[in-house]
Amino acid sequence: MHDKNLQNSTLLLARLDNMKVSGFAKDWLARLVAMPTQSQLPDQDEVLRDYLSKGIAPLLDEIGFDQKIYANPIKNAPPLLVAHRHENDVLPTILIYGHGDVIHAQYEGWHEGLQPFETVARDGLIYGRGTADNKGQHLINLLALKAVLDVQGRLGFNVKFLLEMGEETGSPGLFGFCQAHKDTLKADVLISSDGPRLDIDTPTVFLGSRGALNFGLSVDLRPQALHSGNWGGLIADPAIRLTQALATLTDARGQLQIVSWRPTSLTPEVRAMIDLLPDADTQESIIDVNWGERDLSPNERVFGWNSFAILAMNSGVPEAPVNAISGSAQATCQLRYVVGTDTDAILPDLRQHLDHLGFEDVIIFQENQVAFKATRQDANNIWVQKVVSSLEKGAGRPVHLLPNLAGSLPNECFTQALGLTTIWIPHSYRQCSQHAPNEHMPERLFFSALTLMAKLFSDLGSENS
Ligand SMILES: [Zn+2]
Repeated sequence: MHDKNLQNSTLLLARLDNMKVSGFAKDWLARLVAMPTQSQLPDQDEVLRDYLSKGIAPLLDEIGFDQKIYANPIKNAPPLLVAHRHENDVLPTILIYGHGDVIHAQYEGWHEGLQPFETVARDGLIYGRGTADNKGQHLINLLALKAVLDVQGRLGFNVKFLLEMGEETGSPGLFGFCQAHKDTLKADVLISSDGPRLDIDTPTVFLGSRGALNFGLSVDLRPQALHSGNWGGLIADPAIRLTQALATLTDARGQLQIVSWRPTSLTPEVRAMIDLLPDADTQESIIDVNWGERDLSPNERVFGWNSFAILAMNSGVPEAPVNAISGSAQATCQLRYVVGTDTDAILPDLRQHLDHLGFEDVIIFQENQVAFKATRQDANNIWVQKVVSSLEKGAGRPVHLLPNLAGSLPNECFTQALGLTTIWIPHSYRQCSQHAPNEHMPERLFFSALTLMAKLFSDLGSENS
């Protein structure tokens, strides 16, 4: 038994090496990146569907998946793909999620000789839109499955793969799709990859994501601007009303002032988990150490706490100011929040807070606004422990285990609609220029993540042999 394991792991490493040396892995990445699946642009239906039917389909076939493309439950939103590789009813099932859409190309700003939809390897980095977010990441997981199957002929678990094409536009229809296809997507655990590692050479596991609620605030006093000489001092200034109101939401260092906007979930256990992570301040010289919640460490602020931001603000015509009191002022705001925040109370409590301070003229509005729920898996979950122990064995070092990603993901689709344990293993790093020109995947990260995932799948399957 022991000999067979050793033999399998030697064969697995050889197979992975072959995927690297033969160019098989990089060719697949190039092929996927070459499809300009920019979901944020209008009229992309054909290329978004092609990614499912022509882009990824042949690889799924090779792995032995049965696959089907489904219409999005929301009209005109992109289709979704569900693939299933069934080994045995008695085996556990792992669901893997990925998104095949990318943000728009941003043609301006790529280094000389680079193009968003053509992979170029330069100085150990593979450039191209989607190499990090998310084509490279779901490709790694699929290639890892393939390597295990090539060597062992079986996985030791059933696997389902869910691919959406609208993540960059807020995953339209994903929640409803998961609800409607609960049986099709039934699994024991979600293991998926998106976002960055904390440190390029250390595997990161995160157990959920922060939520995000975007909303607008406006003060709308009159249909047009009025001369500031004739009327200044006589009529209320909407920009002053709005900024005064905004100034009551945090103090001067951004500490939240509305009681229910402050989470109740930063328990000693969560703190202990966060304390093991590398210091954010030594890692990111960009951060302002005197900003945010005073009594928290930078990591606690970003992984264990809530933060408010004013994303955009407008009054008058900033490009060409005139001597007038403008008629209205608007701000787009966002609360990022962790579990332990009452989502349904965020806006009612804001209303109450504003009214209490005499800002009844400040209007809260929410149209087409982003709303991601916060999620966080229990670190003591058996699947979490199995995954972490395999990754630590594979990497030869402790992983960075985060209670949740600081950013947001459509993870509530899996935790709420499907009721799954969710484990995220990001294969990118913070300097990957995701959502910017020069997006890239370091070759060494790609292949070390591929090896880790292949070992993880092999470990998870060997328990059931
Ligand atoms: Zn993205």
